[in-house]
Amino acid sequence: MASLSRIVADIATEMAAAPDRGTPAGYIPPLRDVDPARFGIAVVEADGTVHAAGDADMPFSIQSISKVFTLTLALGTVGDQLWERVGREPSGTAFNSIVQLETERGIPRNPFINAGAIVVADVLLGNHEPRAMIGELLRFVRELADDDRITVDHLVAQAEMATGHRSMALAHFMTAFGTMHHAVDRVLGLYVHQCALAMSCRQLAMAGRFLMARGVNPATGRSVVSPQRARRINALMMMCGHYDGSGEFAYRVGLPGKSGVGGGILAIAPGRAAIAVWSPGLNAVGNSQLGTLALERLVQRTGWSIFDPVP
Ligand code: GLU
Repeated sequence: MASLSRIVADIATEMAAAPDRGTPAGYIPPLRDVDPARFGIAVVEADGTVHAAGDADMPFSIQSISKVFTLTLALGTVGDQLWERVGREPSGTAFNSIVQLETERGIPRNPFINAGAIVVADVLLGNHEPRAMIGELLRFVRELADDDRITVDHLVAQAEMATGHRSMALAHFMTAFGTMHHAVDRVLGLYVHQCALAMSCRQLAMAGRFLMARGVNPATGRSVVSPQRARRINALMMMCGHYDGSGEFAYRVGLPGKSGVGGGILAIAPGRAAIAVWSPGLNAVGNSQLGTLALERLVQRTGWSIFDPVP
């Protein structure tokens, strides 16, 4: 096998030249204007070595990747009680779909579709003001990534607050079923700000380290979640992290992963590495076109798919 640095650099070169780059998300105005030529990749190995290439240090809107961090916080707050209000099954429907909610009486299929993440945001609000909870989330992500430069892009948050009619519809619908405990505008305030977290591939891969390391932040040695919880979050990412493209992602990449409509993907090779890729163009189901291809090539060249036999 070529060295990991070589593999990462080669993938960035190949992606820079890729002709079919997908289309940036059009429904959140500031995301529409991001240059589709961008591509970044960062791989943090279990021993802390970082390999990065392309636009790995350029912050982008992490959007639904934030759902991994809010799920982690919500499980820390209410534990398994969370599963009374949100399921753990793949949805097989689009990220913003409302159809299952009616037949399943306002309980979203999983915490990674928009409806599920809105319930998680509702859980996190607890007795907090949205602003305080956004601050807590930012502190959590900065600590995980060991990087205080991470911020929320308020323009992206405002744009989504102004245009996020589907998310508001989901929240109101779930309120009618009694799933939500707080006012819709307060929950959406938290939700759009978590989605507007701006992080680079390097920062995102660093923040994902605890998921490859049995729940421990390898830099501090401190436990973020128990080994069992880390394993379970990875299982949810594997089954539900790419919406109705989750099966295809498992087939092609074979790693727990979470995508966002900003074009980022956080993927975890348990025991080996935390990986972040970013390219703004999306495929038909809203997952990064080149991000997925880059991860597919990475696992082909490293043998890191969780379905590859352990050497
Ligand atoms: N903020 C986006 C929304 O609610 C997140 C979707 C995504 O990244 O998949 O539509």
